[in-house]
Amino acid sequence: MQGVAEILSTKTFYPENIVSLLKASADEEHLIFRKSAEIKEKYVQNKVYFRGLIEFSNLCRKNCNYCGIRRENMKLLRYTLSDEEILTAVRFAYENHYGSVVLQSGELRGRGFINRVSRLLKKINRVSDGKLRVTLSCGEQTYETYRKWYESGAARYLLRIETSNPQLYASIHPNDQLHSFHTRLKCLESLKKAGYQVGTGVMIGLPGQTYEDMANDLLFIKQIDADMVGMGPYIEHKDTPMYNLKDTLYNRKERLRISLRMIALLRIMMKDINIAATTALKAIDPFGREKAIMAGANVIMPNITPAKYREYYLLYEDKPCLDEAAIDCLQCLQMRISTTGHYIAFDEWGDSAHYVRRCNDNKYPIP
Ligand code: SAH
Ligand code: SF4
Repeated sequence: MQGVAEILSTKTFYPENIVSLLKASADEEHLIFRKSAEIKEKYVQNKVYFRGLIEFSNLCRKNCNYCGIRRENMKLLRYTLSDEEILTAVRFAYENHYGSVVLQSGELRGRGFINRVSRLLKKINRVSDGKLRVTLSCGEQTYETYRKWYESGAARYLLRIETSNPQLYASIHPNDQLHSFHTRLKCLESLKKAGYQVGTGVMIGLPGQTYEDMANDLLFIKQIDADMVGMGPYIEHKDTPMYNLKDTLYNRKERLRISLRMIALLRIMMKDINIAATTALKAIDPFGREKAIMAGANVIMPNITPAKYREYYLLYEDKPCLDEAAIDCLQCLQMRISTTGHYIAFDEWGDSAHYVRRCNDNKYPIP
């Protein structure tokens, strides 16, 4: 069997090699982190980009078995922010020199929703003088909708594949047309075709997920040539069907360990992409996101949703910063990031260098 140093010196990663790296002992871990830090510094520098996250509605037509805002969770008050509330958050991001905002919601498909998002994108462009990059994360839509939103001003889209193993995907979703692995894949293709910087990702430590699955997740992300990635630990939520499997999970510390390893390996495999230090990491460890930055991530998504709505966007338990105003999040983050030897790239869009390169290579010409 090859050792960690030997595997790291090869150019092509195979599932068995990645599994060895995911399982490597704590003594050898520094070799992986050292390599990812070198690559990060060379390809994306020691910068951290901020994306102000606006969770603008928790209405969702889907019923994913892991998610706290799934359709059948009746314990939840449903909300949708008004345009003015969204634009206030956008102004906050703009005035505090964030280069970018992310609009995230449950999945809705009605005409009213689709048109509203288009109108909002145009308004955001106006209030920020076209200086903010906007990312959407509103689930599965048709190619026409993705294209309409792109033309209205969205430049990036986040749609996690959740797991690249179709059987595991089926086991964490209801068995119906609305929750199809195939459709999710098609949506990722449509997003690329529509011109977006495409972000995907997976949950780590799902019930029944193996190291082989996680190795294949990294290879899947490479194979679809993602520009941005958000991966984080799966965290149970008591009002979901998957909660009854909680005793079968890796413990939370182990989920954090594997997540950091996955981030480091992905940085090594896909040198110039943007990788988010996800909020779920902070739910497990107060310094989870800083650890992810050290492991290879270069994006943080401070929550700028008005504080009074945050408790209703609980995808999982122990979600952090529920009662903090956006300005407190900012100050706390600035201090924390300075401890990692990185600096915050204020006023920069922070487009994925990978996307810029693939457009220059004309691999996926901008429509
Ligand atoms: N509705 C959109 C966006 C909101 S959900 C969509 O599904 O794409 C955003 C992400 O939250 C999901 O992709 C999923 O990976 C993550 N998520 C949901 N429930 C979670 C949980 N219990 N633990 C960790 N992440 C979770
Ligand atoms: Fe809805 Fe997204 Fe949660 Fe699934 S993961 S229930 S689509 S918000």
